[in-house]
Amino acid sequence: MTSSSALTRLWVWTAGLTLVAGIAAAELSPNPVPGLRTPRSLFPRAQWDPAIPSPESILGFPVARRAATPDQITACLEAWAATATNRCRLIRYATSHEGRPLHYLIITSPENLARLDAIQKDLQRLGDPRATPPEQADRLIETLPAVAWFGATIHGDETEGSDAALALAHYLIASNDDHAARLRHELVIIIDPLMNPDGRNRFLKMIAEHRGASPNVDDQSLLHTGYWPRGRGNHYLFDLNRDAILGVHPETRGRVRAIAAWNPVVLIDAHGMGPQETHLFSPPREPINPNIPSSREHWGALFARDQARAFDRHGLLYYNGEWHEEWYPGYTDGYASYRGAIGILYEQARIAEDGVRRPEGRVLSYTESVQHHVIGALANLTTTADHRAELLRNFYEVRREAVSPEGPYANRTFVLLPHPNTTRRRALLDVLQWQGFEMLELRQDWTVPQAVDQLGHTLTNAVVPAGSILLPNRQPLAHLLAAMLEFDPRYKTNVLAEERQELLLKGRSKIYDTTAWNLTMFYGLPAWTVLAEPPQNARPWRLPHPPAGRLRNRGRPVAWVFNGADDASVTAAARLMERGVQVRLADKPFTLDGKTFPRGSVVVATLDNRDRLKELPKLLQTTAAETGLDAFALSTGFGEGDLPDLGSEHFRRLERPRIALVGREETSPYDFGAIWHLLDTRLRIRHSHLDGLAGRDLRRYNLIILPDGRPELPDTLKDWVRQGGTLIAIGRSTTRLTAKDAGWSSVRLLPDVLDDLDAYELTIFREWLGAQAALPPTDQVWAHTPAPELPTPWKTFGGKRPGADELKRLDRWQSLFMPQGAFIAARVDTNHWLTAGCDPWMPILVGGHPLLMAKDGVQAPVRYGLFEPAPPQTAGQTAPDGDQQEAAPAVRRIGWAALPPGTQLRLRLSGLLWPEAAHRLANAAWCTRERFGRGQIILFATPPAFRGTARATDRILLNAIVYGPGWTTPPIQLPREF
Ligand SMILES: [Zn+2]
Repeated sequence: MTSSSALTRLWVWTAGLTLVAGIAAAELSPNPVPGLRTPRSLFPRAQWDPAIPSPESILGFPVARRAATPDQITACLEAWAATATNRCRLIRYATSHEGRPLHYLIITSPENLARLDAIQKDLQRLGDPRATPPEQADRLIETLPAVAWFGATIHGDETEGSDAALALAHYLIASNDDHAARLRHELVIIIDPLMNPDGRNRFLKMIAEHRGASPNVDDQSLLHTGYWPRGRGNHYLFDLNRDAILGVHPETRGRVRAIAAWNPVVLIDAHGMGPQETHLFSPPREPINPNIPSSREHWGALFARDQARAFDRHGLLYYNGEWHEEWYPGYTDGYASYRGAIGILYEQARIAEDGVRRPEGRVLSYTESVQHHVIGALANLTTTADHRAELLRNFYEVRREAVSPEGPYANRTFVLLPHPNTTRRRALLDVLQWQGFEMLELRQDWTVPQAVDQLGHTLTNAVVPAGSILLPNRQPLAHLLAAMLEFDPRYKTNVLAEERQELLLKGRSKIYDTTAWNLTMFYGLPAWTVLAEPPQNARPWRLPHPPAGRLRNRGRPVAWVFNGADDASVTAAARLMERGVQVRLADKPFTLDGKTFPRGSVVVATLDNRDRLKELPKLLQTTAAETGLDAFALSTGFGEGDLPDLGSEHFRRLERPRIALVGREETSPYDFGAIWHLLDTRLRIRHSHLDGLAGRDLRRYNLIILPDGRPELPDTLKDWVRQGGTLIAIGRSTTRLTAKDAGWSSVRLLPDVLDDLDAYELTIFREWLGAQAALPPTDQVWAHTPAPELPTPWKTFGGKRPGADELKRLDRWQSLFMPQGAFIAARVDTNHWLTAGCDPWMPILVGGHPLLMAKDGVQAPVRYGLFEPAPPQTAGQTAPDGDQQEAAPAVRRIGWAALPPGTQLRLRLSGLLWPEAAHRLANAAWCTRERFGRGQIILFATPPAFRGTARATDRILLNAIVYGPGWTTPPIQLPREF
């Protein structure tokens, strides 16, 4: 609501009045800001239809005078849809997490509107050249309008786009001038004005809170900046402009379905940037993803030239390229390009309210800032109308390239191999199906001449097992499919050279987002790329309905089991504990009652729950049904042979997690939001958000999570961990815990231990030898006299290293080249409870994160780098238990640790990882766990729940959250009469 003083302000600077009638004489009126101007009209040539309500009549202020709220935007859309029934149609396409509607408004001529369904169907036909030969396409192109899409404000605090969308929609609907009429005739215009209603609402609330009595044009003031977590993200603080390929959020899911239904030939995504900037529009500069259709270059330049001319006419400044690159495929504008549209990005100097004083001294008003979007959009819509037929043809040709047997996407099939983690596999297949990809099921084994796995190994005459899901690359959405699933797209050499030059000369990267993202690696599910078309006998496949989890083999069980290979087992454990059920976790595989279960399986023993035996089956049934995971009844706790029995220490009793997630200032909103989203959507259990830790009664919690950030660590926190708490710290939050004199963790960061690397290297040797279970010669073991000389790993495959000064110099040099986000292969200790449900290796997305160094006393269940047998020509080393001679073998050290004999280290999976950074990352711990008093500290080097999609790594965070409190020393629960 508008306060009276704010209203006064509004009138003052719009009308230039000094006092408004009705305001008490004693009230001071604000002084006008010199130079704060409002353009008279955004559409000087408009001829308004009086029957259609003006925005002002709905908003209560002229459109673009200030940011309209989500409710006001919806009110405008509904009013126009109700009055201009022959020119527009309103479609609700999604509902935000906070329950707000997302709409798009279709605007076109009455003739087009009358045959809208036919137009939509014809555009679908044009999009599949397998069913639409060129002659038929020609006829469609002749008669069809082109669809042009204008979306705005996916980042909630870049508000101008939505107001531009309102102004534009009103003009296109309500003006009878020739220009508007021609756009309606040639085009179907889709306006998507409110891409992130929750973020916008949050930001407008911040503006309202800081709105004073006088206008403010200082872009440092809270009126302009907002405060944590600001308005960029959606309800869970995710950046929705990374979500187009990931589909984590309802806003994205609805929008992508709408884009697929309409096949736009142009898609504009209007953003805001720093208030002291000018205006940026597409095309982007390199690196451009190789799967962006090549014709985009021609069209991008053509649209840009027209847009530049429009800006020139107004004497406005602008630029393109610069920081705007297009490597990551999850931006909305780029995303549309893979589908055959021309994706266009706008970035306008962002004014939250009133105006902003700029370096050249002038004041840029909010309305002017909105106007810049309008000028660009009108230019782009005009270009689209001028080239309607050619753009439709371009769309058809992109799809023709996609399905051509001679095209770049022929003879390649992406394969998702079978895997026991059913829930996770379903989640990935669901994303792929929602994107609209065609999938096939392999019913019989398929021998292929060549396949490539995620580690980059080429396999010859490989057998693709039955049950695999195949995604033939050659299909109408080939470009998008390749962009999402290709393991290892590469930069052009000249682009690589530019990036290296930037790092060396300026010490910074030109890369705007992560350089790797392929979904099978994010999900940690095994996949191959096969260089062949799918076999004839593979059948079209769609994801079946989710299974209904059931109770199996009821009767009189001693225990029930949920299979730990499935991520849903963690959900089951968390929800059962919240319902008061006692739960155990198996830290070893076991066979009971003839059934074998992997480690990490969740066990509910009847004895533990004897006070609620009657309701137990119902609680288990509910949990099975909601997780889709069966609960198997066991009639005996006796494990045959050496296998664990139910009463052994391998079935660890868990503690219900009582969780605090620490947020607010100094915390990354993204990481905070990702963990919150994980807790809400994957576990759906209760937890508290804390605004810092100082002064809190921490005894209420047994698990505290510090997301990526720089949290304060009060002394009370140390006491709390010592008394049995589980502290989880992520990313930069680990740096204070690992500082030498902080008295916290024994883990250190790499630059702090360059004088002690031998000790860390020895831990690597020990872990490796332990994993090999290598024996010295047995006659030595049983000899009655000690051997005169003993092999030691540091002599056998270690060796001298440079002095501390040289190591420091080396580390500083290598740290220049840290990645912006590349997938690294990490080895997993499959005996650790934290890695329950994990395979022996996993891909981890690593950027410039802390490098955790763990030696004796600290467990490191996951480390960067996978040891694999070296190819014969480089395996020149002696075995650890072999030759004892001092003749030093050639030490091959990757970073700070030598390679164990006969091995090489597999590290880079996908994305840009400079050789220098590879040496720095090798063998660093990704996750550590150590005891601290009766409690424990668990550190993660990188955000494990990244973008709600990094399921390989979020499993370990889920394990830490749900199982962690059970791995401390809990107080014995004494009976009341004690
Ligand atoms: Zn933005």
